[in-house]
Amino acid sequence: MDYCEALEKVLKSNIVWIEAQSCSGESVNILKSGCKSLENLFFHSSPFKLYSNICEEKCGKEYLDEILSQKDFVLVIEGAIPKDKDGLCYVGDMTCNELIKKLAEKAKAIVAVGSCAVNGGIIRELGYVGVSEFLGKRVYEVPGCPASDKMMIAAIYYALTSGG
Ligand code: SF4
Repeated sequence: MDYCEALEKVLKSNIVWIEAQSCSGESVNILKSGCKSLENLFFHSSPFKLYSNICEEKCGKEYLDEILSQKDFVLVIEGAIPKDKDGLCYVGDMTCNELIKKLAEKAKAIVAVGSCAVNGGIIRELGYVGVSEFLGKRVYEVPGCPASDKMMIAAIYYALTSGG
């Protein structure tokens, strides 16, 4: 299976992708990979869910409720988490911290993409942490700034197919 086939399979799977405090570098890295029909898959393939600065019309409360009702999904988190300053980062009307905690309880696997999501990255000194430290549990991690698109897709593919 080549990279574009793996990417298509990943984007058609049940993924909840959340951007916490992020520059969108990982999302952009995947979008510029050059695979065919990528924008369509990225934004409009059901049940793929993307919540980010580039989620277009799919960012309202209704969509947030839909995401929170998901049961069988891999949670992908991009960006650092403001551990002690909840309220600096929002997705819809929920703080990133609240949303990530709720989704992490139900996710069959969690993948942190990019160094910010792995350990707080370049804003760690400002009190931001990575996903594993925030949740107090082990997660799949793909470091890099931005993380390699191929490594991200490989990790998410593994999380999807290995049963968590
Ligand atoms: S790891 Fe780098 S590219 Fe990714 S969100 Fe942080 S600063 Fe941006």
